[in-house]
Amino acid sequence: MCSHESHEHVLCTQCDMLVAVPELEQGTKATCPRCHTTLVSKWRYPYKQPAAYAFSALIMLLIACLFPFVKMGAAGIENEISLFQIIEIISTTRYSGLALFFLFFSLVIPAFCMVTIILLGLQVHIPKGLKVGMSRILFQMKSWCMAEIFLAGVLVSFVKLIAYGDIGVGLSFLPYCLFCMLQVRAFQCLDRHWLWNKIEAAPKLNQKLEVGKTGISQNLRLCLVCTAILPAEQSQCPRCHARGHVRRHQSIQWTVALLLTSFLLYIPANVLPVMTTHMLGSDMDSTIMDGVILLWSDGSYPVALIIFIASIMVPSLKMIGIAWLCLDSQGYGNRDPHRMHFIYELVEYVGRWSMIDVFVITILAALVQMGQLMSIVPAQGVIFFGVVVILTMFAAMTFDPRLTWDRCEKKNAVKAVEQEGAIG
Ligand SMILES: [Zn+2]
Ligand SMILES: [Zn+2]
Repeated sequence: MCSHESHEHVLCTQCDMLVAVPELEQGTKATCPRCHTTLVSKWRYPYKQPAAYAFSALIMLLIACLFPFVKMGAAGIENEISLFQIIEIISTTRYSGLALFFLFFSLVIPAFCMVTIILLGLQVHIPKGLKVGMSRILFQMKSWCMAEIFLAGVLVSFVKLIAYGDIGVGLSFLPYCLFCMLQVRAFQCLDRHWLWNKIEAAPKLNQKLEVGKTGISQNLRLCLVCTAILPAEQSQCPRCHARGHVRRHQSIQWTVALLLTSFLLYIPANVLPVMTTHMLGSDMDSTIMDGVILLWSDGSYPVALIIFIASIMVPSLKMIGIAWLCLDSQGYGNRDPHRMHFIYELVEYVGRWSMIDVFVITILAALVQMGQLMSIVPAQGVIFFGVVVILTMFAAMTFDPRLTWDRCEKKNAVKAVEQEGAIG
């Protein structure tokens, strides 16, 4: 950090506004005056605090892996599973891809991120090239840490199973809950801007900066990986070596392509069964909607609503939202940019929670293995559904939110010219 500079220039990641951030007091954060996105936050211990949370999270995860996670008993048969047994059981079914979703999103990626946060925060001596690579991967992986969504899925599956037997939690359930909270907290108090400044000072700029104007109008671009401000024509960032452009390259094309693919896959995801229940010799296929209807008719209204919102409303509204953002950025609609920005943030934040139903089915299929009495196996619909969630997440990531503000800036410029013309 340059301590002699009282202001530090930051380009907003969401609206491209150049903001001069004053020296922050501990525990405060600076937000963008135009779109209110958090630009920089200053924690009391910006490196040690996330590392401490990450370390505790890892310990909890380790404990969670040692003991049984959840159990179910019905008609004298008791079934107890650990986190690793979930993977074992699911990989023996026809749709073993489901085990991969669980393995990566709720164990491997969060654990990897926690190790990275510890190594970066504790000032362990690591070659700079490796540090740069680790930080790059860390922030890319952040959206794929879904441990807390898996936990929510476990709770929902409990409600689904309560009518069929005795549900209980094992010794590792509480540590896993703590792991979820701690890993969320570790990410919360890790500031990307600070972390990169610690690895290397931001590259110096040889031009005058005008605060309150967009980067694009001053021939500047933001490095989306390390938040450095660079000249627009510089395609490779000297600090993190990531390549980039003033706006995401072919953002709309990528977003539309991913959106169309996910829309096509969304049809089989809803029409095909997501799981098969064998009960006393008879098989019953059920789609996502069947699950909601069953829960509703059982009287579990809140859970039926959660599943309905997460699995049916969120993916559909998300696709509509992204399509709307694309159209708006191309000049159709001309909505208030603040409203479009709100939709973007909602789509980004809520989208991953659709994974909850995939995790519910994972837990059901792993836990309900009672032979002839009752057993549940995943069906092909769940794989389609998981892929839809992943594709829509990518679609939201490839969309460049700055296009919304560019459109509005362009409109204002045209208006100003028109007004000048009218006065003249
Ligand atoms: Zn902004
Ligand atoms: Zn960079």
